[in-house]
Amino acid sequence: MADSDSRAGLRYADAEITAFVDRVHAAHDAALARAFDAPQAHAMPAIQVSPSEGKFLGLLMRIACARRVVEVGTLAGYSALHIARGLPPDGKLYSVEFDPRHAAVARANIEAAGLTAQVEVHVGEAVDVLPRLNGFGPFDAVFLDADKQGYPLYAAWAAKNLRQGGLLIADNSYLFGTLMHDEPTARAMREFHESLSANFDSTCVPTPDGLVVAIRH
Ligand code: SAH
Ligand code: MG
Repeated sequence: MADSDSRAGLRYADAEITAFVDRVHAAHDAALARAFDAPQAHAMPAIQVSPSEGKFLGLLMRIACARRVVEVGTLAGYSALHIARGLPPDGKLYSVEFDPRHAAVARANIEAAGLTAQVEVHVGEAVDVLPRLNGFGPFDAVFLDADKQGYPLYAAWAAKNLRQGGLLIADNSYLFGTLMHDEPTARAMREFHESLSANFDSTCVPTPDGLVVAIRH
């Protein structure tokens, strides 16, 4: 029974529903639980994707038959685990993180998940690290989840380094509800959205904070 609110995405989810679908569709094994709990355990910001969003990332990798992937913003490696599990055994995820403490926690979680061969954590500012990854491409997917004012730049890099048909995915595309505000980060995020049509066929999936999914022309 659809009504305009279900389309508007402003009403139906609540904490109980979210907990139910996370449990049914995206239950954690030990490695995912460890990575998901790591930010709180290590006094890091708990800003990882949700279990259902993480599961969606892994499914997208499988839909796209992704083998070579770049993530911008590793944190404790929770989304990296989901992405890496969506890759074939010889697949590779290059994940970029500028905080060495976050990178160390992530590497331990990746090792505990048995994914050391599939995931490389590169420490540095994304603007510096991304150009160093060019030679490992072209990539099948790029996932943006770091500083939001950098999205236009990261999307431009992705447009150059994704294969035709490759996926650009970007979290927090509603900018925590501030997308339409009159301030620089919101303007950058709107610029990111508006820039996509030049190189991508795109949508913004109405997850809690908006998830852009785009296919490279
Ligand atoms: N994708 C992760 C969450 C990432 S949180 C998950 O869902 O599990 C964002 C991360 O990006 C933080 O760890 C932060 O330190 C990192 N970050 C922020 N700005 C960055 C930049 N300019 N370059 C590289 N990493 C950055
Ligand atoms: Mg995010």
